[in-house]
Amino acid sequence: MIKSFISRVFGRGAKQAAHPSKPVVYGPDKHHIRRDHISRGARKTCEELQRAGHTAFVVGGAVRDLLLGMRPKDFDVATSAHPDAVRSLFRRSRIIGRRFQIVHVMWGAETVEVSTYRAHFTKEADEDRQDEHGRVLSDNVFGTQAEDALRRDFTVNALFYDPVKEEVWDFQHGVKDLIAKKLVMIGDPAMRYREDPVRMLRAARLSAKLGLAIDPRTAAPVKELRHLLENVPQARLFEEILKMLLSGNAVACVQRLREMELHHGLLPLLDDALEDPATGPFAMAALKATDDRLREDKPVSPAFLLAALLWGRVERRWHELEEKGQPSTPSLHSAMHDALDAQRGSLAIPRRFDATMKELWLLQPRFLQRGGTRPFRLLEHPRFRAAYDFFELRARSGNAPLEVGQWWERFQDASGEERERMLHPDEGGKKKRRRRRGGRRAPGEGGSPEEVAPGADE
Ligand code: ATP
Ligand code: MG
Repeated sequence: MIKSFISRVFGRGAKQAAHPSKPVVYGPDKHHIRRDHISRGARKTCEELQRAGHTAFVVGGAVRDLLLGMRPKDFDVATSAHPDAVRSLFRRSRIIGRRFQIVHVMWGAETVEVSTYRAHFTKEADEDRQDEHGRVLSDNVFGTQAEDALRRDFTVNALFYDPVKEEVWDFQHGVKDLIAKKLVMIGDPAMRYREDPVRMLRAARLSAKLGLAIDPRTAAPVKELRHLLENVPQARLFEEILKMLLSGNAVACVQRLREMELHHGLLPLLDDALEDPATGPFAMAALKATDDRLREDKPVSPAFLLAALLWGRVERRWHELEEKGQPSTPSLHSAMHDALDAQRGSLAIPRRFDATMKELWLLQPRFLQRGGTRPFRLLEHPRFRAAYDFFELRARSGNAPLEVGQWWERFQDASGEERERMLHPDEGGKKKRRRRRGGRRAPGEGGSPEEVAPGADE
């Protein structure tokens, strides 16, 4: 429906630009984006900048999303004004960034990112880019609006919207590609991937999010160049992976990554998670549960998802160590550390997630213990909810006994008497069950709550 609407509206009058420096301009009668679709902050920023004699547009993902009838995450502004000029126009603003200076303009709770039109440049050109005073301009290579369109990754990301005139400016046939449901790289795809290999991951993520097919020419070089992802700084890679996992389209993203064979070797976290027959279905189920929660506007925990994706490794190692004769709980501890260390060697998960992940893992064996005071203590654990969700997902995807998952579902809602009846004979055997809160732990019981940091970052 949206597609037919856009093609109906854009179809006529969609004259192609004769030259990339001349945009096709779609007036308000040619599209359905109205200025009140734009956030108040971005609108006012553009208005102010234009009043001061500059050009200013909403740019990038927001225009693309609005044309597709989707709600944009945020609104970025691109302008002809230099950062200092932007800064001086808005009282509540600050310049950030060293390599590329951008200005954050604050409107109440909203922060609008304002960037000056930049030219696309390669590393070689960068080295000898200096102004007449010898100042190296590589930090801020200003350019024209057309150049700013050209330096962007995909044609659908190079659209500008003027909220004053309600016009869409299209330098790279982005509208045409959006109608054709195609994700097309601007310029020579191989060269653009070499400049920034993360664009391969962006192709996967955006095509999944927007339901666009990756144009064959855009997809072709990925096979040859995917090894370049190994050189991308860990933090940037992790950030992009996290964006995918929390995009609300994680399942689709992962499918795209597999189609593009980008999950192999380069992204061991996903590689391992998806290919392991014992835990692969659980990892997929966790991705799907995350997508569902995001669709329902429920909060999601990256640590939960990361713990699910790494669980395969943890579990495998845990059982290996147990088979070697190590007791269960120390085996689980070692397995967790081994899994995190191995992961650190490839795609580092920031340490702030460690505590929550470990806690979720450590609580898993405790769900199997249904005798004595143990289930009551587990129920009172501050992380019970998340750990139960984790266990329940495992049970539903064949990674834990389904019957145990169902038992816990009933146990939580049961009355005191029913709970007593549900209890299994105390496996510990030696101790009489005590109902006293904070009673001592039974011997051999794993997963002491004291062993994991409270209030861990999710
Ligand atoms: P979303 O906001 O849905 O994640 P987006 O396309 O808006 O997707 P951002 O990371 O917000 O992604 O980037 C904003 C814009 O900056 C993009 O639309 C694109 O024009 C440009 N851009 C982002 N990353 C790159 C890149 N690696 N190479 C070239 N241009 C990029
Ligand atoms: Mg964006």
